[in-house]
Amino acid sequence: VHEGILRRQSLRESSARTYARSLPIVPVRARGLTIEGADGRRYLDCLSGAGTLALGHNHPVVLEAIKKVIDSGAPLHVLDLATPVKDAFITELYATLPEEFARDARIQFCGPAGTDAVEAAIKLVRTATGRSGLLAFTGAYHGMTAGALDASGGAAEVRVTRLPFPRSYRCPFGVGGERGAELGARWTESLLDDPKSGVAAPAAMMLEPVQGEGGVIPAPDSWMRRMREITAARSIPLIADEVQTGVGRTGAFWAVEHSGIVPDVMVLSKAIGGSLPLAVIVYRSGLDAWQPGAHAGTFRGNQLAMAAGAATLAFVRENRLAERARTLGARMLAGLRALARAHPCVGDVRGRGLMIGVELVAPDAATGDTAPPAPELAAAVRQECLNRGLIIELGGRHSAVVRLLPPLTLTDEQAVAVLDRFADAMAAAER
Ligand code: PMP
Repeated sequence: VHEGILRRQSLRESSARTYARSLPIVPVRARGLTIEGADGRRYLDCLSGAGTLALGHNHPVVLEAIKKVIDSGAPLHVLDLATPVKDAFITELYATLPEEFARDARIQFCGPAGTDAVEAAIKLVRTATGRSGLLAFTGAYHGMTAGALDASGGAAEVRVTRLPFPRSYRCPFGVGGERGAELGARWTESLLDDPKSGVAAPAAMMLEPVQGEGGVIPAPDSWMRRMREITAARSIPLIADEVQTGVGRTGAFWAVEHSGIVPDVMVLSKAIGGSLPLAVIVYRSGLDAWQPGAHAGTFRGNQLAMAAGAATLAFVRENRLAERARTLGARMLAGLRALARAHPCVGDVRGRGLMIGVELVAPDAATGDTAPPAPELAAAVRQECLNRGLIIELGGRHSAVVRLLPPLTLTDEQAVAVLDRFADAMAAAER
């Protein structure tokens, strides 16, 4: 069964397919951290649907919420009409948002995917400001549709000015930390204040508080505050893409809370749908210059996703899973840093909460920040992890960063099992 399914799908699916290529498994059952394949093998899933599964697979509260909608006889498809399910979702979402933001926020359902919400955000700020350009950052990932892709570094449909995203490791200014972040901020200011730069009046700045696909790079809080100051002083809307960082993942319910900034637009997807497709933007009401019907679409009222999402948001909030992600994440980072001391091929271990990255390098060629990335070794580590029943993915420009995104419900014992398997895989890949 297992081999047949893999063979048939690899013949018919496009050559663009991604995860199915790097993870040749056929999931048939899953619960929590564990996936079971058609071949009977069990895996610990630290990819979590690219950061979607805050509560792991098929959490009982999620299944219960979905069953409740089905059993109630409520319609599954209602376009974007008002329903009790939608009402409960909006109420629960607003209860989690930073208070100052929630007080004056409008919501637009965009669904089904994160990239749709990014498109909506870009369209919203362009309508509201009458301007078109966008400020985005090196290494950003916002999605795969045209506008979102541009913001992630494609050819310019939307004219995008790319600014340096602050990073300690491989800092573009060669100084790293807060100092590198401050240089990036000053560079941003000088561009915006120079009428000849051509970027003086963009429609918005869009950023990820922690870059995910870009290689798990957390922005310093001080830099986040600087970006807020810089944009506020020039009436440039600030869009926080929390598609991956949201719902407790980084150790705060929303990653903007770490720095205390209030963005103008938040782009939300992945975990907010509790495993099912759901995407929204939430934004300052002052930006709501849209005419009725300006943003429509058939699949914006996914009742099952809203029910699963509301149950997930409530569970994370009530069980303080963001705090849990913070403490467990810190412990996992410490464990990985201890492991790194025994492996010169680990160039950097970084992350926030349960959004963790391990950058692999070729240490023989150079040291420190200048060691070249090691994508082949990273691919070998991914395969060795899979051989040991551990699912991880790679990220970063060179695909040399191992990304660990376990569910927030990870137990202490499971965290130890993940680190043990990862350590074994590292040792095997290096041989
Ligand atoms: N923004 C960020 C920060 C993301 O991580 C992703 C997906 N990895 C997206 C947007 C796009 O979401 P989707 O894949 O659902 O279109």
